[in-house]
Amino acid sequence: MAGKVVVFTTGGTIAMRRDPETGGIVPAVNGPELIAAVPPLAGVCPVEVREFSNMPSPHMTPALMLELGRQAEAALAEADVLGAVVTHGTDTLEESACFLDLYVRSDKALCLTAAMRSAGEVSADGPKNILCAVRTAACPEAAGKGALVVMNEEIHAAREVVKTHSANPKTFASPFWGPLGYVDEDRIIFRRAPLGLQKIHPERIEEDVFLIKLAAGSDDFLFRCLVDKGVKGIVVEGLGRGNVPPGAFAGMKRAVAAGIPVVLTTRCLGGRVLDIYAYDGGVKQQLEAGVIPGGEISGQKARIKLILALGESNDPERLAELFDTP
Ligand code: ASP
Repeated sequence: MAGKVVVFTTGGTIAMRRDPETGGIVPAVNGPELIAAVPPLAGVCPVEVREFSNMPSPHMTPALMLELGRQAEAALAEADVLGAVVTHGTDTLEESACFLDLYVRSDKALCLTAAMRSAGEVSADGPKNILCAVRTAACPEAAGKGALVVMNEEIHAAREVVKTHSANPKTFASPFWGPLGYVDEDRIIFRRAPLGLQKIHPERIEEDVFLIKLAAGSDDFLFRCLVDKGVKGIVVEGLGRGNVPPGAFAGMKRAVAAGIPVVLTTRCLGGRVLDIYAYDGGVKQQLEAGVIPGGEISGQKARIKLILALGESNDPERLAELFDTP
């Protein structure tokens, strides 16, 4: 195959081993070692490793995602690069995937992969996941589909994919949608493609954005703290269609009145927030108060989107427009 795949290594369990002294799993495998553990890659295409970091993914930050996005975009602009792969920890993989999906403008394939079992564990899943991700990144049909998450021989869209289980290797799923396709040995089989891919490509990002998950009886306490701190954005995970307890609604109104953009999402796994309820805390009242409906994406992905969007503008109308997509 003419051309190479660039693999950015960032860390995660895929690059960890059990430390015999503490018994705990820690970062231990560098980029070239990760690739060396996958001999069949030699039969796919040349692979170039670029070590970005070796950190657990709970240490990943939006600022690092921005730097990764810049490096990925630069790599994809190189003429001899077919596509890129990012190896990552599973814990925040869906957030980095969402960031790269929105930020990177190249049409070439960009695949993220990871592992649930560390190197050296029985049935470690990392090597096979890397092989499948590189095969997908080198496949012409993977182009133009945004960032893809390749795990367990399945290919998922960044916007839809969720880590669903804390331990099982079959943890990544796209609830209500299913994978875009799958890797069957050396064949990449796509059954569908994501529609309406969005791009947000600011020079800078706004990291001072918080996510609040609401529950029965939630009040305005956290909102008061955030307003006092002068944060730049708040994402709320509401209940069901996006409705919230009256106490929390009071806090949301306070934040909007203080000029802080408040984006509403749902804690449900699927479906959009919508203004069909008109009681105190219902979405109708929230929209009248200036809350921005977040569409269909999860709270953690809406936070990433707001971090990017606020890098461009904090105009509520512009934000509403950006979030008014599935
Ligand atoms: N805690 C690890 C991480 O996200 C889990 C993993 O990679 O699966 O870095």
